[in-house]
This record gives sequence, C-alpha cells and structure tokens, in this order.
Amino acid sequence: MAELINVITPDAPFRAGERVLLVDDRRRTLMVELKVGTKSSTHNGSVAHDDIIDQLTGIKVLSTKGKMFRIMRPTLSESIEAMPRGAQVIYPKDLAQILMMGDIRPGHRVMESGVGSGALSMALLNMGAQVVGYEIREDFANRARNNVALNLGTEALSRYSVILADVYLGVGDELFDRVILDLPEPWRVLEHLHGKLRRGGILIAYQTSVGQLAQFRAELENQGFFLAQTKEVLVRDWYYSSMALRPDHRMVAHTGFLTMARIGAKPVRSESPGSVSLIDLDQ
Ligand code: SAH
Repeated sequence: MAELINVITPDAPFRAGERVLLVDDRRRTLMVELKVGTKSSTHNGSVAHDDIIDQLTGIKVLSTKGKMFRIMRPTLSESIEAMPRGAQVIYPKDLAQILMMGDIRPGHRVMESGVGSGALSMALLNMGAQVVGYEIREDFANRARNNVALNLGTEALSRYSVILADVYLGVGDELFDRVILDLPEPWRVLEHLHGKLRRGGILIAYQTSVGQLAQFRAELENQGFFLAQTKEVLVRDWYYSSMALRPDHRMVAHTGFLTMARIGAKPVRSESPGSVSLIDLDQ
C-alpha cells in the first residue's frame, strides 16, 4: 500500500497517498491513488499526478492527448462504489438509512458483524463512532481495515478494531450503544446481546431475503426485543437533457430489508411451569 494519510480533510489540497477521481467531459470516472512522479493512463492519454498534488478539488488538468479531466475528491459514496471488495457491500442508499435508523452519533460504541469489505464500517466511522467488528474471515478483516485507512485516513483506524471470531458463538465483555448485523443468520446473535447492548440501545439488521427476515422478526420477539420495524429503501434516479426530464427507465429494485429494534429484558421461565416473566439484566 502507498503512504497513508492520517486525516483526509475535504477542503485541503490533494496529497500523495490520496485517492482521487479523474472525470472526463462525458462524466466517465477513473479512481486513482496519487503518487509523486507517477502517471495514470486513461482511454484519452495519461495524466501526471504531479499536476494534481497540491491542487484543490475541482481543478482541471490536460492529458498527454490534450483532453481535459476534472479532478475530484471522492465522496464516501463514490469511494464505496469504487473500492476493492470481496463480500457484497451494503449500498450507500441503505447505509444512509442505517445511520438515521440507528441514530448513530460521534463517540457511540457500535458493534458490527460481519465487516465484509468495510463499507458499513466506513459509514459508521465517518459519523465519529467507535466501531468493533466481528468477522470470521481474516482476508475480509484485512481488506476492511485497508479500505478504512485508504478512504478515511489512519485516524479512523484508531477507532476501529476487528475481532476475528464467529459471532454466533458469543460476543466479548463490552457494552455497546448500537449493534448492526449483516450476516446470513442474525437471529443466532440475539441471545448474546443481553447485557452487551445497553439499555435503550438500538439493534439493526440488514437482510436480503424474506425467509430470513421472518425468522429474524420471530426471534426478536422471543428474545424480548421491542418496537421492531422493517423498511426497505427505494431510490429512483432521474434523467436530464434539454429535451427531457424524467425518471430513469431502470432502477435498483431490491437490495435488502432493514430491521431495527430496541433491546428489552431477556425472557426467562419463572418457577411455575408455563408462565414467563421478565428480568431486567441492567438492574
Ligand atoms: N456489511 C458489510 C458486508 C458484510 S458481508 C459491508 O458493508 O461491507 C457478510 C460478512 O459476514 C462476510 O464478510 C462474512 O465473512 C461474515 N460472516 C458470516 N458469518 C459470520 C459469523 N458467524 N461471524 C462473523 N462473521 C461472519
């Protein structure tokens, strides 16, 4: 990996080690990592990184073929779309909704599993949260850390740890403000959250098919979670030209379902057979 930057400041001049977008006059984009003395070849000639380093976002540079490229610092959403991935990532439209449903704030301690390529981790860290990820695959854990460092800067790594473990077997002794699950059987994590997700804490799960969703909703009730709600996010782009302004013909119709719930007391069987009472583990 090239040299890493501690904090990527939106309005600062471009520095070596940053990733930037080269945008041509037909809006085609290429993401490149800036290195002193290096050139990136495009379909329209090559662009010298030394022409970009120390300049501000939006600058125009000419390629060796005399074509104009505008150089932009990528938004988080653009970075996520361009970053190397192994596992499927949560798309920006759903990430935005997760941040709002989860009421994610600076300083929140958030547990996330699995981390996959780190797209959700980046969205949480970008809000100022402290993130602890549980991930079963070491190669994914490493890729997620690299993506965080490259796209948010190494400062974000100081608020990010990834634990290599099977989260279905349990969660370490820590108290979290929020828990976000994106793995095949999230209902298997619920029993481990009592005493780990703090009172008033919010749980969110991202799921892609209704069978899993039904199982998760049922288990939420069994485990004493309450105020559960499930949503999906449909985003439609619009097409614009001087002749027409209308919705795009195509859209992404399905990504996943988002379910949120508050943690309640763990249900326990009382002495008398058949009856169920609640104890509050936070007492
Ligand atoms: N939310 C991530 C994508 C997660 S993909 C993103 O936005 O990039 C699902 C991840 O869950 C995969 O990386 C997979 O390895 C991990 N996983 C599956 N089962 C797991 C388990 N039992 N414990 C921990 N991680 C698990």
